[in-house]
Amino acid sequence: MDFEYSEKSLELQKRVAHFMQVHIYPLEKEYMEFVEANPWKVFPKLQALKDLAKAEGLWNLFLPKDYGDLSPGLTNLEYAPLAAIMGRVVWASQVFNCSAPDTGNMEVLAKYGTESQKKQWLEPLMAGNIRSAFLMTEPEVASSDATNIETSIVRDGDEYIINGRKWWSSGAMNPETEVYILMGKTDPEAQRHVQQSMIIIPAKTEGVNIIRALRVFGMVESPEGHAEIELKNVRVPAENLLVDEGAGFAIAQGRLGPGRIHHCMRLIGAAERSLELMCKRVATRKAFGKSIGDFSSIRQDIAKSRCEIEQAKLLTLAAADKIDRFGIKGAKDLIGMIKIVVPRMTCEVVDRAIQAHGGMGVCQDTPLAVFWVYARCIRIADGPDEVHMYQLGRNTIKQSIQA
Ligand SMILES: Cc1cc2nc3c(=O)[nH]c(=O)nc-3n(C[C@H](O)[C@H](O)[C@H](O)COP(=O)(O)OP(=O)(O)OC[C@H]3O[C@@H](n4cnc5c(N)ncnc54)[C@H](O)[C@@H]3O)c2cc1C
Repeated sequence: MDFEYSEKSLELQKRVAHFMQVHIYPLEKEYMEFVEANPWKVFPKLQALKDLAKAEGLWNLFLPKDYGDLSPGLTNLEYAPLAAIMGRVVWASQVFNCSAPDTGNMEVLAKYGTESQKKQWLEPLMAGNIRSAFLMTEPEVASSDATNIETSIVRDGDEYIINGRKWWSSGAMNPETEVYILMGKTDPEAQRHVQQSMIIIPAKTEGVNIIRALRVFGMVESPEGHAEIELKNVRVPAENLLVDEGAGFAIAQGRLGPGRIHHCMRLIGAAERSLELMCKRVATRKAFGKSIGDFSSIRQDIAKSRCEIEQAKLLTLAAADKIDRFGIKGAKDLIGMIKIVVPRMTCEVVDRAIQAHGGMGVCQDTPLAVFWVYARCIRIADGPDEVHMYQLGRNTIKQSIQA
């Protein structure tokens, strides 16, 4: 592959970086203070930032060019470095309408939605007027194996009735979230990978009960939140089903490819910024008669971090390039590899930066503590590390035998 970015991507990188510099970094602290003091309320200046990003054409850049007119026309490889720039501030990607889980849900609706589903839900999501959540994980079963999920979706005339309990539904606490895409079972007796279906549920449907918001390492992660939700005799029109009964698993597989590139590149942006903060800190602070940056152990940490970030970035760009050229199926091993490598790398790099900051590193005066929590969570969210290693190991053995 060619590791040079296209002219188009380079120009957008400059513009997104400039936008971050002028409009986002100056509000970084104010944003965090607001969401901490006002649980489940949206930062009042967010809408103006979104309007500005939209007016500047820095909007929905995540949607790859194979989506035709809906897409601003970038490949995954061209978008990847933009996600890294956005990842330098944990809440920035929503300003550009490029944040999870909306991006994955928009891709699902764009790829599989009917014209009326697109009109009702994709259009307001792409306009940034509403937000969404993805409901798959359940408290009662090991959801890293999605065939375990138990929530039932039962046809009743021209409606479906949904019963079950979900948790870790990210974004469901946000007052702007109006729609869920839920995965459940329409036929528990069918063959293992066609028991599941996906269905659209408006958030305010009767029988949808938000039980509580789950804390993450003690934090509430407002305003998005991660909800535990009970679904009790929830009725939606039959036309809310995505594709057909039994298509849920296949849709879920397709949903996760580009989304993993986005998560990984955002993490790489967080790791790069952590290393920059570490370098600045150690260059300006003295201990035991010399600059902290002159201690060999600190220089080794910095050198290791630079190497690891660069390795992870090249791997992720290779995965993005492979998706562009061979589709999600053709890139599945590389997608697995980045999911295994990048969150761990980010945890390590951020941890070194935290250590070099001393007490300051664990408090709210730098973004480091929040970066670490984000990276640690991604080792579980979207499937735990071990599941990706289990599958990559299996594929590698199979390929070796066939070779
Ligand atoms: C911050 C955050 C946000 C999330 N957002 C969402 C969301 O928006 N929507 C949603 O539906 N879910 C979401 N999740 C849930 C996440 O996808 C699940 O937690 C994950 O898939 C694991 O499922 P589980 O929690 O049931 O763990 P389990 O399936 O019970 O697994 C527990 C552990 O078992 C081990 N294990 C499992 N399989 C293997 C294997 N093959 N080999 C070796 N060890 C194994 C691993 O150590 C694993 O961590 C989120 C989670 C977090 C933490």
